[in-house]
Amino acid sequence: KLHNDVVDLRGQIRVAVRVRPMLKTEEEVSSASIIEYPSTNAISFNQGAKPSGTFTFEKVFTPVFSQQSVFANIEDFILSALHGYNVGLIAFGQTGSGKTHTMRGGEAEDEGIIPRTASYLFNESKKLEATGWKFEFSLSFMEIYNNEAFDLLNNHSIVKLRLINHTVSLDGLTEHPLTKQSDMAGLLNVADRNRKTAATKCNEYSSRSHAIYMWKIKAQQRSTGISTSSVLKLVDLAGSERAKESGVVGQQFKEMTNINQSLSVLQKCINMQKAKSTHVPYRDTKLTQVLMDCLGRGNSKTMVVVNINPCNEQAVESKRSIEFAAKMR
Ligand code: ADP
Ligand code: MG
Repeated sequence: KLHNDVVDLRGQIRVAVRVRPMLKTEEEVSSASIIEYPSTNAISFNQGAKPSGTFTFEKVFTPVFSQQSVFANIEDFILSALHGYNVGLIAFGQTGSGKTHTMRGGEAEDEGIIPRTASYLFNESKKLEATGWKFEFSLSFMEIYNNEAFDLLNNHSIVKLRLINHTVSLDGLTEHPLTKQSDMAGLLNVADRNRKTAATKCNEYSSRSHAIYMWKIKAQQRSTGISTSSVLKLVDLAGSERAKESGVVGQQFKEMTNINQSLSVLQKCINMQKAKSTHVPYRDTKLTQVLMDCLGRGNSKTMVVVNINPCNEQAVESKRSIEFAAKMR
C-alpha cells in the first residue's frame, strides 16, 4: 500500500472533497442539505440545482467521516514526505465549510490533520529508523494576510520572501526543531495565540488569512551518510467566498482583492502544472511562492481538500467550490 503510493506519480495532484455535517444551529432553522452521494467518491446537488450531474473525486469524505477516518485515508500521502517527496496538503472552501476543523481541529478525537501528522510521522520514522535511517524534523508556522507574510511562532513578526532562481527564501521565519511528538502541542498553542492576537485587529482576520504549517524533514542513511531533505506543507486557506463587490471599500476591499487573487493564481498554478505548461505563474502571489516547491513540480505531490458547507443557503458558494475542485481533476 505504502509502496504503491510512493512510486505512483500519476496522481501528483489529487483532489478530495469533504462535506461537513449540518450543525445543530443549522438544523434548528431547518436548513436542508443540498448534497447527495450517488456513489462512492462522487457527489451531486439535489433539487435539480445547477451544475447538475455527478462529480467524481479522488476521495469524497461524507459527513459521517470522523477526524480519525479522514486521516486514515490520507496518511499514505503524508508518508511520502518521509520518502523524500515535497508534499502539500491544502484545505480550500468558503468560511464555515470546515477547513480549520479539518486541518487544526479540536482536542483529543477531534484533532485535525496537523496534530495527527506529528504523532504519525514520529511513529513512521521510528519504523524507518529500524531500517537504518535517521530523521530530523523542524517546524515553521506562518500566515499570509493581505499578501504579507507573518511568523506564527515568533510574535507575528514579518517574514520577507525572496525569490532566488526557482526557490523562495523566507527571511526571518523561525525554525523549531521537533525532537519529540509532545512538542507539537506547545507550538500549536503559540501559533493559535498569535493568530488570535492578530485577529483582534479585524474579527474576520482568521478567515482572511492563509495559515501554512511547514515541516522540513531531513533523512539520513546511517551506513552511507546519504541524506535527503523534503518539505511538508499543510495549509488552511482563506475563505473562498466572493464578497459582494459593491459597497466594499478600503481595507476590506484590499483584503478581498488579495484573497481572490491568491486563490485564483493558486488554481491557475495547479491547472497549468497539470497541463505540463512551462510557464506556471508561481511568482504572482506570496501564497504560490511559498507553496511553489510542493505544487506538483518535480518531486512533489499535492492534495487539495475542498470543504463544503451542505446547507441550501450556501448553495451558490458550494457549487463554486465544486466547480473549482472539478477543474483541477
Ligand atoms: P472554516 O475554517 O472553513 O471557516 P470551521 O472549521 O471553523 O470552518 O468550521 C465551521 C464550524 O463547523 C465550526 O463550528 C466547526 O467546529 C464545525 N465543523 C466543521 N467541520 C465539522 C465536522 N466534520 N464535524 C463536526 N463539526 C464540524
Ligand atoms: Mg477557519
